[in-house]
Amino acid sequence: MVEIIGITGGKGGTGKSTIATALASALSKKSKVLLVDADVECPNDHLLLGIEREFLKEINQRIPRFDLDKCTKCGKCGKVCKNNAIVSIEGKAPIFMENQCNGCGACEYVCPSNAIQWGSKSLGKIHKGKKDNIQFLSGDLKPNQMLAETIVGALNKEIIQIKERFDFIIIDTAAGAHCPVIEALSYADKVFSVTEPTPLGAHDLDIILSLLKQLKKESNIIINKSDVGDRKIIEELAKEYKRKIILEVPYSKEIIDSYTNEKPIEIPSILNIIKE
Ligand code: SF4
Ligand code: SF4
Repeated sequence: MVEIIGITGGKGGTGKSTIATALASALSKKSKVLLVDADVECPNDHLLLGIEREFLKEINQRIPRFDLDKCTKCGKCGKVCKNNAIVSIEGKAPIFMENQCNGCGACEYVCPSNAIQWGSKSLGKIHKGKKDNIQFLSGDLKPNQMLAETIVGALNKEIIQIKERFDFIIIDTAAGAHCPVIEALSYADKVFSVTEPTPLGAHDLDIILSLLKQLKKESNIIINKSDVGDRKIIEELAKEYKRKIILEVPYSKEIIDSYTNEKPIEIPSILNIIKE
């Protein structure tokens, strides 16, 4: 039965991708592994592993199209739009700001003159790839688009369709505790929060551990660059949230060399984290 593992962390740059790619690489020596880069605003796992990505599908979102011949300039669509995507003043034609729109449909619902139809726009793409025994998926949100969670949701649909082919699915999330991260962790059986022993790392770990508690996700902590900073601040959080520090990865030149050479990173004992 497939096990889905989320790799997350409140702060950017703590090493989520390092851990996700190293875990995928170690597991793939004996198991079938799918690595999913769900950091759709800044996907980089393919760069770390030297994967040549192929286009898999376009992800679109519906957006309203206004028929100004039918529009009576009533102003209702602007009032109902919670995203401020329509500026609509009674007596004037509505002005639509496409990038603010999430396609909710409220404007069409309230329009009394059937002046709103549906079109679509591209939000981004999903790519696939392969490296040795690792199958790979990644999402790319187009610049200046807001709905990262829609791309992550499309990745989740792909995962659901193919998950039975794998022993492990590793999902590398974005930083933060916002909608795209929550969406990326929807199907995770267990989650590892990657942090570093600094006040900033601890602050953001606090936020992500609080989120994981609310999501009722089984989770433990990985400290990256564990020899730089003060481990005690992470220990205190682990105690507060009743989580284990399950792996510590010291700063290492070999890891930097692996990045540079697009080689899978080897972290001794990384496989122990899935046995806990
Ligand atoms: S679909 Fe929703 S978000 Fe988009 S313009 Fe209409 S009300 Fe606003
Ligand atoms: S609700 Fe319909 S009729 Fe009223 S301003 Fe908007 S598009 Fe025009």
